[in-house]
Amino acid sequence: MSEHDCLFCKIVNGDLGADIVYENESLIAFRDINPIAPTHILLIPRRHVATMNDLQDGDASLVGELFLTAARIAANEGLAEDGYRVVMNCNEAAGQSVFHIHLHLMGGRAMTWPPG
Ligand code: 5GP
Ligand code: ZN
Repeated sequence: MSEHDCLFCKIVNGDLGADIVYENESLIAFRDINPIAPTHILLIPRRHVATMNDLQDGDASLVGELFLTAARIAANEGLAEDGYRVVMNCNEAAGQSVFHIHLHLMGGRAMTWPPG
């Protein structure tokens, strides 16, 4: 899928609404439309990157920022002490359904391991 018909690029461009909890010049965090936990937030880079396989060496700081921002949002959501999970699915076998990378931040309930 090209970035022209990418759902999350539409959110970045403002063509599709989202419940945005944080944004800066490089990333946007918004609530998942179909939450699987009381808190379920997606963090995406503004730049279209289809899968984790497409990340380059120069993206190290971007990936770091996604994780650091997830930790800050988790704290703001009151999840830090009890705990939370962050996940990035890569390609079909892992369940990736939107091909613009996104870090899931989930919390507010006990979670099982291993995941399905
Ligand atoms: P994936 O399965 O690719 O790891 O996760 C995609 C996530 O995007 C799913 O949790 C799904 O609920 C969420 N999602 C899909 N379409 C939309 C949308 O239009 N808006 C929002 N906020 N989330 C979406
Ligand atoms: Zn995109």
